[in-house]
Amino acid sequence: MEIDSLRKLYVEDLKDVYSAEKQILQALPKMVKKASNQQLRKALEEHRLITEKQVDRLDRIFESLGKSPRGKKCKAMEGLLEEGKELLQEDIDPEVLDAGIIGAAQKVEHYEIATYGTLRTYAELLGENEHVKLLQQTLNEEGDADKKLTQLAESTINVEAMAEA
Ligand code: FE
Ligand code: ZN
Ligand code: FE
Ligand code: FE
Repeated sequence: MEIDSLRKLYVEDLKDVYSAEKQILQALPKMVKKASNQQLRKALEEHRLITEKQVDRLDRIFESLGKSPRGKKCKAMEGLLEEGKELLQEDIDPEVLDAGIIGAAQKVEHYEIATYGTLRTYAELLGENEHVKLLQQTLNEEGDADKKLTQLAESTINVEAMAEA
């Protein structure tokens, strides 16, 4: 397909982030399973529920566009999650693994923050005001998740990982 307009680029990027969110939904339960810290497990589990709502928002956007969300694989998210999976397979101390899981999860959040920021800006330019609201809501949630992970790392999890011999 020829991408000859910002509108087409917008739809392509929406499909990309739809694929990213779907991949995240698959990966989060595996991260929860391997995490030891109770607060970290809770934060990841909460973000999984939030991610389901984010997919719903994207579904609404695709409905309003009369387009299918399918047909694209986010290779960047595939790569980020592949790296995360490598970490889960290492012989690694549980406290240190928790620190690593936070790092992997923050890479995912930062990718989403970049992507939703771009999408929100495209939606503004295209006059899709309802989309702007939905995308901004998701962007805020990704930012909150990132801050929560930083707070967990700095308050306990990195400190406990440092205490390991
Ligand atoms: Fe998300
Ligand atoms: Zn992508
Ligand atoms: Fe990259
Ligand atoms: Fe997220």
